[in-house]
Amino acid sequence: MSLKKRIAIIPGDGIGQEVIPQAMKVLAATGIDLETTQFDWSADRYLADGVTVPPDGFTMLDRDFDAILIGAFGDPRVVTNIHAKEILLGMRFQMDLYANVRPVRLLDESLCPLKGIQPKDVDFVVIRENTEGVYGDVGGVFKKGTADEVAIQEDINTRKGVERVIRYAFEYCERHTKSDGTPRKRVLMSDKSNAMTHAGGLWQRVFKEIAGEYPQIKAEHMYVDALCMQLVRDPRQFDVIVTNNMFGDIITDLAAGLQGGLGMAASGNIHPGKTSMFEPVHGSAPPIAGKNIANPFGAILTAAMMLGHLGMLEKAAKIEAAVLEAIRQKRTTQDLGGALGTKETGDWVANWVAK
Ligand code: ATP
Repeated sequence: MSLKKRIAIIPGDGIGQEVIPQAMKVLAATGIDLETTQFDWSADRYLADGVTVPPDGFTMLDRDFDAILIGAFGDPRVVTNIHAKEILLGMRFQMDLYANVRPVRLLDESLCPLKGIQPKDVDFVVIRENTEGVYGDVGGVFKKGTADEVAIQEDINTRKGVERVIRYAFEYCERHTKSDGTPRKRVLMSDKSNAMTHAGGLWQRVFKEIAGEYPQIKAEHMYVDALCMQLVRDPRQFDVIVTNNMFGDIITDLAAGLQGGLGMAASGNIHPGKTSMFEPVHGSAPPIAGKNIANPFGAILTAAMMLGHLGMLEKAAKIEAAVLEAIRQKRTTQDLGGALGTKETGDWVANWVAK
């Protein structure tokens, strides 16, 4: 049996189609012999033949690949966004990729909008529950279009779902260090249990229980509104944050702001022991698509995260070092103050990695 890692590549829509080729170029420059297979699941494909995910598509990904690298989904021509829901949320839910891991790391002081904040001050990770919450599409609309319309969106929180993601956060804390090599020591759970007492109560109880199994890790709690304020006021205080699907979605966009914008943020959708999926945090960004101006670093750092997950830590570190060097030398797209295009930025990073 081949030891080559098999990677499924799904660029998707908009800037996904521009940034993923850069990530692939950088992967190739590492010299790792990966077996990549590209899939055209996207708005274009949906508009052409009505297919979002081919029959057994997720089973095939799980069976035939070691990891999946995707770009972004969303296209103004598909108003319902059905393809994005079926591909992206479908993958997370049906492949049961329950932990969405989003590292928040400031690579260079110049990228942070906060005064006096250094790279060592922004180095935390958000672990977002990825298979439940309000994104399960449970609910409905009653008396639609009338003055009496009722819209219900249920928030699903299962004991199993909450427990496994909280446990994942403690395990992550135990196994990972900060980028300067110091151990991670704290897990903070964020909810809105003062107002949403039923779901919040479950998160609170499970968090206390699991925290008891990890006495060496400091367990903390913050309401999500307070967390938003504190993330901006002093990001130094955070280490590992675990939260539900919607709060995680929101606070990681906020956190991306601390690291230089959406173009910088990477993520992994993980189920330990199974085929996991890696994607930049940003979406398809239709207003800037097709112009060669999208920042490819989020996608490139996502590819590095995928290599790290597959055990190739040195190569992952080399890609991160290349991105850092590109930022230092201002070899970046315009959102970071540089003058290069998406492709040229990808070329620069790939050349540095190949050296
Ligand atoms: P989604 O809901 O799919 O995550 P979104 O509506 O939150 O998407 P994005 O598509 O991520 O938003 O982008 C919002 C804006 O952020 C873009 O229009 C663009 O200005 C900026 N942006 C996002 N990604 C990048 C990038 N890689 N490079 C430069 N700018 C970006």
